[in-house]
Amino acid sequence: MPSGADALKNAPYFLLSTAGRMMYTVRDCGRDDIGMTEIFLLKLGELVLKGLNRGRFEARLTANLKRRLEPHGRFEIYSLQSTVYVEPIGEIDGEAVFATLRRVFGVTSVCRAAVAPKDMDAISERAKAYLADALNGARTFKVEAKRADKTFALNSPQICALLGERLIAAFPHLKVDVRNPDVLAVVEVRDRAAYIHTAAAAGAGGLPVGVNGRAVLLLSGGIDSPAAGFMMAKRGLDILPVHFFSYPYTGIESKNKVLELARIMSAYTGRRQVMVVPFTAIQETIRGECPERLFTLVMRRFMMRIAERIAADSGCGALVTGESLGQVASQTLESLRVTEAVCGLPVLRPLVGMDKEEIVSVARRIGTFETSILPYEDCCTVFTPKHPKTKPSLEELEAAERALDAEGLIDGALAGIEKCGG
Ligand code: ATP
Ligand code: MG
Repeated sequence: MPSGADALKNAPYFLLSTAGRMMYTVRDCGRDDIGMTEIFLLKLGELVLKGLNRGRFEARLTANLKRRLEPHGRFEIYSLQSTVYVEPIGEIDGEAVFATLRRVFGVTSVCRAAVAPKDMDAISERAKAYLADALNGARTFKVEAKRADKTFALNSPQICALLGERLIAAFPHLKVDVRNPDVLAVVEVRDRAAYIHTAAAAGAGGLPVGVNGRAVLLLSGGIDSPAAGFMMAKRGLDILPVHFFSYPYTGIESKNKVLELARIMSAYTGRRQVMVVPFTAIQETIRGECPERLFTLVMRRFMMRIAERIAADSGCGALVTGESLGQVASQTLESLRVTEAVCGLPVLRPLVGMDKEEIVSVARRIGTFETSILPYEDCCTVFTPKHPKTKPSLEELEAAERALDAEGLIDGALAGIEKCGG
């Protein structure tokens, strides 16, 4: 936890001035003049199950949150009672912050909440004002109370009864429905203050990015590889995108498309820089020296070799691809075997058992689908053999590559790497 958390807990109320405006922070909430102070409450999923690792996981999550919130203003981030609090300092765009927080892995749910002093009158007034829009648009409601601060004078049923009564008095059209209410009004009485919110929104789930190490993602301009990167970032991998670029066979538009995909993914993965590897010389050499039926596989083996060298130089423990079993000739079992035979690192293929429709639904969720289907060539399609081998053997691949100066080609490609879009 941030070392300041305990100090903050007992901090005196104070006022901050932002760009000439007087803003109140949560710590003001004992005052009468409290404005519409909002805070974000994040619940953690698997994190809480991780026993001794929990501290490390929370520290990583806090660091990720800080980085992701940087463009949105200043925030205090701290954990208390197994909730992470994201407290704005100064003015923010609440909708944008809310959307950002819902894309941070490691968070299972996000509440946008109003802050009130721990006093039933203040809580009721705050609830009436904060929930007014939602309650005006509803026919039924239910109050739910959570009293984490056991010193608070009323217990949970008493809080529910009193607040329910006051909300009905203020919004007389409302009826109580405890089974299926249009609006759930939640009051949490915690250590520092009381928080008022409606039902929590789902977060991205998974584990904080980086908690399981780092991996190179082979990112093409297609539908699959961004989905694969998203899925492994969700399992806590910090994803380093690498793209093989065959200019002028594939144009600047296809490179820009890949950079755009990385930018969209970064809402989840956090990283938008792409290492662009010049691949033209390798592809031309393969075309000149190798049997046509093996073009794609030899090319894929070069991609893996280069990706592994990049992984070694950047502290990555795995490669991630968007391959799915049987999707194309280069993704049969035999093809996958000869492709990964050149790698020592694990090759993670999170889409291996998924149908295209399932992959598309992941791509839609991330927001990459519309960009992926833009019609630009990928280097794989430019040199596709008419009759690719579907059951290759390792021996024939090795024989086909004997004519090539593999090390020279790899060194040449590595020397030309360009870091784009950071
Ligand atoms: P995608 O839809 O992601 O392009 P695909 O079904 O078209 O995948 P292939 O072209 O055979 O399949 O590529 C398989 C995997 O190889 C991709 O998912 C990606 O991980 C990697 N790959 C292919 N082309 C490139 C490239 N130009 N740069 C980086 N990685 C690539
Ligand atoms: Mg492709």
